[in-house]
Amino acid sequence: MPRVSVHFRDGLEELLPRRRKAPVDVAAPPDSTAVAIVEDLGIPHTEVGSLLVNGRPAGLMVRPADGDELTVHPFGQEAERDMGSPRFVLDVHLGRLARLLRLLGFDAEWSRDADDAELAATASRENRILLSRDRGLLKRREVRRGCLVRSQDPRLQLDEVTERYRLRGHLAPFSRCLICNAPLDRPDAAPTGPNGSPAGGCPSCGRRYWRGSHWQQLNAIVEEIRGGAEHAG
Ligand SMILES: [Zn+2]
Repeated sequence: MPRVSVHFRDGLEELLPRRRKAPVDVAAPPDSTAVAIVEDLGIPHTEVGSLLVNGRPAGLMVRPADGDELTVHPFGQEAERDMGSPRFVLDVHLGRLARLLRLLGFDAEWSRDADDAELAATASRENRILLSRDRGLLKRREVRRGCLVRSQDPRLQLDEVTERYRLRGHLAPFSRCLICNAPLDRPDAAPTGPNGSPAGGCPSCGRRYWRGSHWQQLNAIVEEIRGGAEHAG
C-alpha cells in the first residue's frame, strides 16, 4: 500500500471532516488514482482545481507512488473564464437557490423529485453545472462540472455561486420565470399589472409578474448582487 501525504490548500482543508490543516497521510489501496484518494478524504472532484505530485503539475488520474506528496488546490475562477452565462441544475434541496438564480436571469433547472442519477445525467447531457450540498452526488463520475454549496442559507448560497462563476457580468434580472425557468416575454411588451405598473406573463406556465411588493423584495436582492460587483471592483 503506497503511503501518500496529501496537502490541501487555500481553504480546501476546511472541507475535510476534521479540518486537519497539516498534511493528511493516507495508506492508499494499490493503483489508486489521485482523485480517488482525494474523494476518499471527503472532497468531491468538482472542488479540485489543480493538483501537484511532488511539486509538479499532474492530472487527477495520476497514480501516486509510495512516499509521494500530493498538493491539492481548490477550484478557481480561472477554470470558468470565458464560459459566458453558465447553466445550472440543482438538487432537490436547493429549490430556493434555483429561484434566486432564475431571478438573476440564469437557466436553473430544478425539480422537487429528481433523483441523483437523473441530476447527474442532466448535468452531463446538457453541460449544466450541478449545484448540491451532497458530496456523494458530486463524486459521481459523470458530473464534470459541479459545485459543493457550503452555506445552508439560500441568500448566502447565491453569493457563493455568484462569486465562483463570476455571474455579475451576465445578470439579466426578471428575464426568467421563477416557477418554471422559462424565459419571459419582454416586460415592455406586457400588459399592465394590478397596481398600474408593467406586468409580464410566463409563456410556459402562465404565471403573471408585476411590480408589487414582492417584486420590490426581489429587486432589493438584485441590487445587493449588483452592489457586490462594485465592492469587488
Ligand atoms: Zn413559468
